[in-house]
Amino acid sequence: MPTVIKTVCFVILKIANMDCYCTTIFTKVIYYMSNWLQLILPNICVLCGNRCNKQQSVFNENYENNQVSLALDLCSACQQELPVIKSACAQCAAPLPIQYNSNIETITNTSKKILCGACLKISQPFAKTIAPYFYHTPIDHLIAQLKFQKQLVYARILGLLLANFLLHHYKNRDTPQIIIPIPLHKYRLKERGFNQSLEIAKPISKLLNIPINIQDCIRSKNTEPQSRLHAKERQNNIHNAFSVTKKSLTGKYVAVIDDVITTGYTRKEFCTCLQRAGACKIDVWACAHA
Ligand SMILES: [Zn+2]
Ligand SMILES: [Zn+2]
Repeated sequence: MPTVIKTVCFVILKIANMDCYCTTIFTKVIYYMSNWLQLILPNICVLCGNRCNKQQSVFNENYENNQVSLALDLCSACQQELPVIKSACAQCAAPLPIQYNSNIETITNTSKKILCGACLKISQPFAKTIAPYFYHTPIDHLIAQLKFQKQLVYARILGLLLANFLLHHYKNRDTPQIIIPIPLHKYRLKERGFNQSLEIAKPISKLLNIPINIQDCIRSKNTEPQSRLHAKERQNNIHNAFSVTKKSLTGKYVAVIDDVITTGYTRKEFCTCLQRAGACKIDVWACAHA
């Protein structure tokens, strides 16, 4: 491909990754062009720089979906090195020490209901959590680059990786009716420019064919970033941080999306808020569990 065309393509992809607001016609055009270019251009592994085979994707089955490029920007060698949690609590997804047959069927099959000590003792406001990866290299790197360096391409990668586990898990189960990404406070949203949970939710929504709802729940309290606080302070910090603006969740089966589960206080607070607003069942989906 001539260098000029390559450079133009590269610039378009860079602009699309930097600007996710899509508030102007220019950025909208750039965004849609970048989606098409990602289908045409060779995929380069974001971790090692090797070229990826376009036919290779995380998906074992043939999911036909014109709106989503399944090419992953991760080579198969790097995919195999990802830190999958091989044994986890069926409800909160906390890693468990017991190792058993660790293929994708058993990782996503929470019908066995192996629960951790905490979930055996207290009732949780959510039915289950699916968080397939440890918050270790390179997943922590992908999440940090997404949140703090505005590398939106990583949201797509993280979303597709998570979607692979979700498609297996819900193959013979009812799926949630709506996806709600954990909301950011309006000031944080303005500062960051995007909500990372929403960006991760986008490819999942398209692949699982479940709509995203971002209009009915808000983070009404401008909390300190949880990562800067000790475990005890995190619980107080997030208390009463969320509110539901409309009573549209009554009787709804909801999936909550977060980037990473750390102490679990944010998940618990948000799910409690959704439960009070009438959600009948809540599953939590996250890329990683710390
Ligand atoms: Zn690689
Ligand atoms: Zn648990």
